[in-house]
Amino acid sequence: MFVFGHVGLTIGAAYGSRLAASRWTKRRIGQAIDYRVIVVGSMLPDLIDKPLGLWIAPDLVDGSLRSIGHTLIFAIALLIAGAAFWRAERGAGVALFAASSAGHVVLDLTWRTESILLWPFLGWEFGAKYPSPSQWASQHLFDALRFFTDYPELAGFLVIVAFSTRVVYTKNVRRFLLRGIMT
Ligand SMILES: [Zn+2]
Repeated sequence: MFVFGHVGLTIGAAYGSRLAASRWTKRRIGQAIDYRVIVVGSMLPDLIDKPLGLWIAPDLVDGSLRSIGHTLIFAIALLIAGAAFWRAERGAGVALFAASSAGHVVLDLTWRTESILLWPFLGWEFGAKYPSPSQWASQHLFDALRFFTDYPELAGFLVIVAFSTRVVYTKNVRRFLLRGIMT
């Protein structure tokens, strides 16, 4: 999955969860959700692993473009940190960030590559080879231009358009940029 799918489906899931929780508790909750945190969290594994595999330390991660950020151990460590911050009443920001990052690992279907998901328990190699940076970039540019043929990407794109339209239409652009509040 690429950017539209990750970002759109994650903010859609966060918005849907907030609505469901509000109905369940019959209270309006979640005003404090910072959607900027969700946007960055939804891309965190790629923001770590793509530069690592392409430029920073390709030898260290066996040239894999999915490595440390896509592992279960990384997701669990972040979730534990998020829970600790929440319990200490220091806000839900870290927990939302962690959940969004864990959602990325799920949307990438990372369980299909056990050597990455369960690293380092099955060995220190990530075991997934990728093309050279230039091949990868041209392939992804091609894929990005055809995003509408991939239903999850298209769905994510439509969610982003709907949310952006809502932010602009309700004159909340400044509020969103400064505080991440969507509605
Ligand atoms: Zn990824």
